[in-house]
Amino acid sequence: MSDHVALLGLGTMGSGMGANLLKAGLPLTVYNRTSAKAEALASTGAQVTQTPAEAAKDASIVIGMLADDAASREVWTGCNGALEGVKQGAILIEASTASPSWIAELAALAAQRGTELLDAPVTGSRAQAAAGQLTFLVGGSEQALAAATPVLKAMSKEIVHLGPQGSGAKMKLINNFLCGVQVASLAEGLTWIERSGLDVHKALAILNAGAPASPLLAAISDRMVNRNYQVNFLLKLMAKDMLYAEREAETCDVDLKTAEVARGIFEEAIAKGYGERDIASVIESLRAG
Ligand code: NAP
Repeated sequence: MSDHVALLGLGTMGSGMGANLLKAGLPLTVYNRTSAKAEALASTGAQVTQTPAEAAKDASIVIGMLADDAASREVWTGCNGALEGVKQGAILIEASTASPSWIAELAALAAQRGTELLDAPVTGSRAQAAAGQLTFLVGGSEQALAAATPVLKAMSKEIVHLGPQGSGAKMKLINNFLCGVQVASLAEGLTWIERSGLDVHKALAILNAGAPASPLLAAISDRMVNRNYQVNFLLKLMAKDMLYAEREAETCDVDLKTAEVARGIFEEAIAKGYGERDIASVIESLRAG
């Protein structure tokens, strides 16, 4: 029999993940704080609940895809939180980009309920979530991962087991540290190009074919030039990731000075009203001077 899956959080990423769980034929119950966002999945077969506890109660796999530690804490452990409803033996998957310290706390709470937590944050963005082409970075036991694999496969192209609980969360913060610094420096570089009198398209062609090239540089420079800020990844979430990365690196005695500077650039953009827009819009904050 198929796993009964509960999915908590239907934002940019969760909505695509839910669609792929349904496409794979898995029985799916969903919860989202703003219930209107569940309508699309309800129309394609998901059962919608009003609380995380209700969503979790019949599920053998419960997945969280939430903004940050605070949102994750609220949905798993708040009043009518998912942990109140989970069945003994269920596997809980925290796919949000969360801090390893919160993952450790949540893992202990999960164990007290007779359940096991995997931290499984993802790489890939809106398009990959919609296409079932995410990569899961997993921390936790081999047994729990083996049990969760059919469900994770429905949403992904790759599942990487990195080690014990917390390993996925750490890897994801390292990944996003490098992404965030690159986006912040691209915003500065492109603003410089625009003001320098150089031909923007020629300059970007050189960068995108040369040593600085990366998939991120190509995608984000295109959005910045075309001022296309349809949300793939909210700017405010990158500021959060930089902060979590700084704190986590500190536990290894590493001072992420570049993350701190990048976070400053994102926070300035948030103060100017770009927090709820796509990360590429960070350049508007610099263009404005
Ligand atoms: P999003 O669109 O902002 O969705 C966030 C989700 O968290 C929504 O369901 C939101 O509910 C919920 N939420 C926020 N605060 C809450 C609270 N206090 N209580 C209950 N629910 C709360 O974010 P996303 O882009 O889907 O990202 C989800 C996670 O994946 C984040 O940790 C992000 O860093 C990570 N991630 C994102 C991407 C990407 O490209 N977008 C890629 C990889 C990883 P409402 O709908 O009610 O606001």
